Order: sequence, then C-alpha cells, then structure tokens
Amino acid sequence: MEQLLYEGKAKQLFTTEDPNVLRVKYKDDATAFNGEKKAKLEGKGELNNRITAKFFQYLAERGIPNHFIKVISPTEQLVKKMNMIPLEVVVRNRVAGSLIKRIGLSEGFKLSQPIIEFYYKQDELGDPLLNQDHIAVLELATEEQLMEMKKIAKQVNLLLNEWAEQQHIILVDFKLEFGSLDGKILLADEISPDTCRFWDKQSGEILDKDRFRKDLGQVTDAYQEILLRLGGNEDV
Ligand code: ADP
Ligand code: UDP
Repeated sequence: MEQLLYEGKAKQLFTTEDPNVLRVKYKDDATAFNGEKKAKLEGKGELNNRITAKFFQYLAERGIPNHFIKVISPTEQLVKKMNMIPLEVVVRNRVAGSLIKRIGLSEGFKLSQPIIEFYYKQDELGDPLLNQDHIAVLELATEEQLMEMKKIAKQVNLLLNEWAEQQHIILVDFKLEFGSLDGKILLADEISPDTCRFWDKQSGEILDKDRFRKDLGQVTDAYQEILLRLGGNEDV
C-alpha cells in the first residue's frame, strides 16, 4: 500500500512498492515568507514537475547524477529515496532577495565570484543562515559532505548558466538540496522557478517566484516561459 510519507509546502511524498523509490506529487500551492503568504496557482504543480524533470535530465546528461528517475503523470515523478541533509544550499551570481540586506549592495549587482550559502531547513527558526561551525556542532553534515555539496553546487551553477546564456536568461540565484544514498551525496528535491531566480536578459522581466512574492501577477505564465526555453512542448 502506498502511503503519504510527508506533505510539505509545495510537494507530497508517497512511498511506492519499491522501498528505494518515492513518488513526488507537485502541488499548485504557492507560499512565500516562511509560509506567511499563501495562494493556489492552477497549473503550477504541472509546470514545476516538468521543469524539474528537464533540469535534472539536463544535469544527469552532463555528469551530475541526481535523484530523478522519471515523470509518471503531469504532476508526478519518481525519485530515489534519500536521507535528506536538512540544509538549503544557495548559489548566487547576482545580488537579490535576502542578500540585499546582508551585504548592502543593490539588486542585480553582478558578484565577482559565486557566493555559496547554507541555510538550516528549520521552519520554526525561519531557515537561518549557518556557517561551517554551526553545521559541525549541529552534526548536520560532515566536512567532507560539505565540500562535496559545494563542489556539486558550483558544477550545477556552471551548467545552469550555460543553459541560461543560450536562452537569454540571467540566472540570479538558486537553491539546491542534497541527500545521502549508500554513503554518497546526491542532488535531490527540485529545480524550478520556485527555487531559482531567472530574469529575461533583453526585457529584464522576472520569470520566477518573485512574481508571486512581489504581487506582479502572471506567475504561471512566467513558469510556462521557462518550460518553453527548456524545450518543453508538452501541453500543460
Ligand atoms: P518543504 O518541506 O520545504 O515544505 P516541499 O513541499 O518541497 O518542501 O517538500 C518536499 C520534501 O521532500 C522536502 O522536505 C525535501 O527535503 C524532501 N525530499 C526531496 N527529495 C527527496 C528524496 N529524494 N528523498 C527524500 N526526501 C526528499
Ligand atoms: N530559496 C528557496 N527556498 C527557500 C529560500 C530560498 O528555494 O526556502 C531560493 C530562492 O527562490 C532564491 C534563492 O534561494 O532563488 C535565494 O533566496 P534568498 O535567500 O534571497 O531568500 P528570499 O529572500 O527569496 O526568501
């Protein structure tokens, strides 16, 4: 019997008959500001399911193994069951969001090198920024695992930037999550406009969840545009 294992803000995780495989169902719910702002956006679940699948396939084909197995319905995909590391690994190429307040540079400022940050996945604490000592004391990851996550995050950044360049998109920043499987660190969770900032290079138009955060409207139209630029022509 398949069971609901976990329900988060954007997805549901179900067990399958294979104990090593989970079914992920992408929901239409949108949340921001640690769940304070909520809405239902029809079609978002389908878009993020397809967009995440495209990004994970793109990365796997270029040497970044990850948890993705296959899409099984418009809103569902199968993934490898992982022991998740409760960290959000954020990679930034330009200043936006919480970095504006942290370092005082203005939105859009191009960083001389990518900044990688670790946040504690802990809603009650509001997902605080952690340094390597905090992570060691809390035993969230070993030093070796942290190094591996940083290495993969940098490779993912290079590859996502290659795609973005070709598609005339500025990849401002994004968030990754990792898990361990048989002693190896593997990229997991989701890569979508919910977890990345994308700006159209020509028009400067925002093509990600900031449309929801800032009440700009046409949120799913922007997500559809990202799917299109990933070569997705499925009728969603
Ligand atoms: P949140 O938990 O932040 O509300 P979601 O609604 O996206 O977010 O929930 C998805 C959950 O599934 C997250 O807690 C994420 O860490 C977890 N997860 C992602 N990929 C896997 C995986 N391969 N195995 C187990 N858990 C996973
Ligand atoms: N991000 C995410 N989940 C989070 C927090 C951030 O996917 O819980 C992504 C966010 O969409 C952006 C990047 O991580 O692409 C950096 O986010 P930031 O720290 O600026 O936080 P924000 O101000 O967006 O909450």
